[in-house]
Amino acid sequence: MKLLQVTVCLISLILVLPSVFAASSSEDFDFFYFVQQWPGSYCDTQKSCCYPTSGKPAADFGIHGLWPNYKDGTYPSNCDATKPFDSSTISDLISSMKRNWPTLACPSGSGEAFWEHEWEKHGTCSQSVINQHEYFQTSLGLKQKTNLLGALTKAGINPDGNSYSLESIRGSIKASTGFTPWIECNRDGSGNSQLYQVYLCVDRSASGLIECPVFPHGKCGAQIEFPSF
Ligand code: 5GP
Ligand code: 5GP
Repeated sequence: MKLLQVTVCLISLILVLPSVFAASSSEDFDFFYFVQQWPGSYCDTQKSCCYPTSGKPAADFGIHGLWPNYKDGTYPSNCDATKPFDSSTISDLISSMKRNWPTLACPSGSGEAFWEHEWEKHGTCSQSVINQHEYFQTSLGLKQKTNLLGALTKAGINPDGNSYSLESIRGSIKASTGFTPWIECNRDGSGNSQLYQVYLCVDRSASGLIECPVFPHGKCGAQIEFPSF
């Protein structure tokens, strides 16, 4: 009798365990940050930058990445070494990636190393929702949909080296996208605070923008520079 009970117990455990793991792996993050960078602010720092092998990118925001995050501000990373970046799965997206997700790190590259880094560090943690092709396609779609430069210039905020209030920058992006962005600043070669990256939040099924459940840390000045590129 005892043996029967133990056997039944073991069998139910074996049956139930996989579904417990499946449930936890489909709830392994809460939302995404969609992060875009202003190339002028990547390049005018003390460190400088290198244009990609395909040439100087357009004077527009570029994608940095789509980052799964937890509501408590922490985030998973490098989730699956068995799914390396494979450019053959995104061959239809490469020309758009070169335009919209250019690399500015040195030495110059095609962009593959940047895309590989973003997929392996962040993308692999979103596979319960989107595969590699969807990860890049979704990011490209979000870039087009958010049109940050359009939102800013419509409000008279231009990449002309002048300073603008952080308030007006945030306000113009909120007015245009409907959602409050997080602005990250860095410093130009002379130490001035400038508009570096814009964070918007995306729901965990990657279907659209949401208000951010939590913002990253860091501070800009009340007035920040918007350098040219
Ligand atoms: P940094 O320390 O320069 O802000 O960030 C370095 C890298 O850490 C980022 O490019 C990104 O890959 C990762 N990272 C920084 N903050 C966050 C965050 O709040 N969420 C996620 N998912 N990744 C982050
Ligand atoms: P993260 O900060 O997302 O963890 O890492 C960014 C990595 O991608 C760094 O190793 C950085 O050198 C590389 N990288 C290549 N191109 C770019 C670029 O245009 N912008 C940024 N932020 N990182 C880039």
